[in-house]
Amino acid sequence: MMEKTVVIIKPDGVERALTGKILSRFENAGLKIVGLKMLKIDKKTAMRHYTEDLARRRGAHIRNVMIDYISAGPVVAAAIEGVDAIEVVRKLTGDTEPRAALPGTIRGDFSHVSYKHADGKKGPVKNVIHASSSSGDAKRELALWFDKGELNSYESVHDVHVF
Ligand code: ADP
Repeated sequence: MMEKTVVIIKPDGVERALTGKILSRFENAGLKIVGLKMLKIDKKTAMRHYTEDLARRRGAHIRNVMIDYISAGPVVAAAIEGVDAIEVVRKLTGDTEPRAALPGTIRGDFSHVSYKHADGKKGPVKNVIHASSSSGDAKRELALWFDKGELNSYESVHDVHVF
């Protein structure tokens, strides 16, 4: 099924100058970038991104840490389209915990620390990117991060050789 999903290169990814390398992972797989921008979000927007659901799953402290972190510096937001894009982008992204993320995935190749390490510092797990984890989240995040006019439709070589 053709789907759109959202990838956010977090402040650590931007500051480590990994933006180009990360976006090329998705392009290499034949996924299509249909929206792209760099922006710095305020806390209110960060709270709409990291919702109560994160507090329920990981605890209120982690949610607060992540809200502070994702609003602390510029991020790059990408809307990515492809066949089963939500699942495929999560596969390319890798496990949430860098220590467990497999080589070949973005988090496995560009980060390595553990939950234990982050929790000892009472800080965020800096795992380079966010990727929507369900179709409900993808819909909500597309609307949160992009205006309708910022999502594009165009023919790329992928339409000839990939799809
Ligand atoms: P994912 O980003 O893989 O969908 P979650 O939605 O569960 O994972 O968590 C959101 C983000 O919160 C993670 O990407 C990570 O940066 C951070 N995080 C999760 N667990 C912890 C933790 N124990 N300590 C610090 N940060 C965490």
